Amino acid sequence: MNLSTFSFPTTIVFGAGSVNRLPDELNNRKIRRPLLVTDAGIQRTPVFERVQNLAPAAMIFTNVDPNPIEQNVLDGVAAYQQASCDGIIALGGGSPLDAAKAIRLLATHGGPLAGYDDNLDGSTRISSNLPPYIAIATTSGTGSEVGRSAVITVKATNRKTVIFSPYLIPSVALADPELTLDLPPHITAGTGMDAFTHNVEAYLAKGYHPMCDAIALAGAKLVWDNLPRVMDHPHDLEARSNMMMAAIMGAVAFQKGLGAVHSLAHPLSTECGMHHGTTNAILLPAVLEYNRSAEPERIAHLATLLGGGDAADRVRELNHRVSIKPRLRDWGVSEAILPALADKAVQDGCHQLNPRSCTREDLLELYRQAY
Ligand SMILES: [Zn+2]
Repeated sequence: MNLSTFSFPTTIVFGAGSVNRLPDELNNRKIRRPLLVTDAGIQRTPVFERVQNLAPAAMIFTNVDPNPIEQNVLDGVAAYQQASCDGIIALGGGSPLDAAKAIRLLATHGGPLAGYDDNLDGSTRISSNLPPYIAIATTSGTGSEVGRSAVITVKATNRKTVIFSPYLIPSVALADPELTLDLPPHITAGTGMDAFTHNVEAYLAKGYHPMCDAIALAGAKLVWDNLPRVMDHPHDLEARSNMMMAAIMGAVAFQKGLGAVHSLAHPLSTECGMHHGTTNAILLPAVLEYNRSAEPERIAHLATLLGGGDAADRVRELNHRVSIKPRLRDWGVSEAILPALADKAVQDGCHQLNPRSCTREDLLELYRQAY
């Protein structure tokens, strides 16, 4: 029998100004000394100042890499314990939010992080005994603020490792589109395309899930309609709100699963330092073409939603519209590294739910097409 297990349980306070709820949310959870996890880039912005003023007792931790690594997590746990913290505020894009989830985990669970690898049934070792965690997103992409997974590069394998448990869901997400008004254009584009890819991959992922499918289609359409708007008018609050909602919808939908785009993208971040969402944007057209024989009707339906014609071409147009250079070679990736990337991509769990199965050779061919 094929059973589906799902839930949509994250408490989300959504809307302009929702970040002002932070003092109440801290009080409600009796958090007196939170660890505020963010990164050095955000620390220099007015958004950081605003949040710090709302949580003056917070201990600040900013040592999070753009693609978070295990050492960031260990340093964060040390800071948490040294300051006798009793809860976590995560502020940022996917990197601080994911790092903070792993800090939250290791604050009460023993290491090493590799022991919680979802590929190795790590979720069975994660209990509900975790400190409260308030997530505040500053980008509209990852959806980590509503999700139950963290992606951390672990020392032992230098591989992006998914840690997954329903207990990792934030206690509350404050989703405030005002915080995204001053995002730089390339971050708006890259994170927006991450949200788009989450919705598209979730819609095409294997498995019976009409609820996630409906959310994914609506989320993809929101990105299609609103990402060009925010690129042209960064302070358009309605379009920024729609992008933030699309990112949340993507993360809710991808509990159904993701696909080959994410397996291909992860090694490009760990080995070549590429931005996650931007990498997804570059790879998505080739993977859509690869998947067409497995899911012709769904891909045709997606194309209709995006104005008709060919879905992969529509995505290429969207990339062009938001100024993402379309080929891996444009981003300084060397062709010689592609076979090594394929070795890593085939070990990544995301492609297990891709609608068309992928061998290492298939993944290498997809890299070559995107190259
Ligand atoms: Zn992603």
